[in-house]
Amino acid sequence: MSNPEKRIVMVTGGSRGLGRAICLAFAGPDTHVCFNYNAADTAARETARLIEAAGGTASFEQVDVASTEQVGGFVKTIVREHGGVHVLVNNAGITRDGLVVMMKEQDWDDVIQTNLKGAFNCIKAVTRPMMKQRYGRIVNITSVVGTTGNPGQANYAASKAGIIGLTKSVAKELASRNITANAVAPGFVETDMTAGLPEKAKEAMLAMIPLGRAGAPEEIAGLTEFLASDKAAYITGQVIHISGGMI
Ligand code: NAP
Repeated sequence: MSNPEKRIVMVTGGSRGLGRAICLAFAGPDTHVCFNYNAADTAARETARLIEAAGGTASFEQVDVASTEQVGGFVKTIVREHGGVHVLVNNAGITRDGLVVMMKEQDWDDVIQTNLKGAFNCIKAVTRPMMKQRYGRIVNITSVVGTTGNPGQANYAASKAGIIGLTKSVAKELASRNITANAVAPGFVETDMTAGLPEKAKEAMLAMIPLGRAGAPEEIAGLTEFLASDKAAYITGQVIHISGGMI
């Protein structure tokens, strides 16, 4: 590592929502956060500003996680400029909800490409540098619906269930190189993604949560940061639900 005293953390979809909270959970003098976004460049600049205000350093790029080429270029730049990647958080995700009977093929493809292939692209790109370092922490953001299913979200639930299988397989493949891979499965968290839900759907969701409230992005970020820390060195291949007791 050219810069062994700094932990290099890569977060996908760091411009808004959970991704921004995750970037901030890592922000500090010992860490450089590299994140990407797809469209919201003003929001990305704000995330970088907040990381710096917290005493950390940041770099960011517009990179579509669904593009193998763009992800490969992003990771190459990080390794060239910072010497390696210690932590990867696969957070970028989208929804295109609809009942299967009505679902457009494009909506199926977009969600699988971004959520599942995007995670695969990033894992594949960081695997070699992490193997060389003999150190790595991979945290994939899945969802409770990857375990439970959800009417109207067949594409999204399938992508999130896929992430669980991906996580467990990668954990087994990379354990001998001191690389862990775990998944965090949030329930209902208030972000742009859930802001558009009809009031009735939100009320129904809250009624299913024993703790009686939505999760905060910072709570999901705290668990993510823990799984990337040395305290979690003996945890791999796990899916940890953080849903107020929803499942
Ligand atoms: P959000 O507020 O909609 O933010 C999504 C983030 O992903 C944005 O930064 C967005 O970038 C980025 N992104 C989307 N498509 C991308 C692409 N193709 N390439 C690169 N970046 C892309 O969503 P959120 O609620 O924070 O969700 C974050 C993750 O948590 C997702 O994986 C989601 O499935 C999961 N999750 C959320 C909840 C919840 O209740 N909110 C529950 C369970 C799981 P731009 O700014 O460029 O659009």
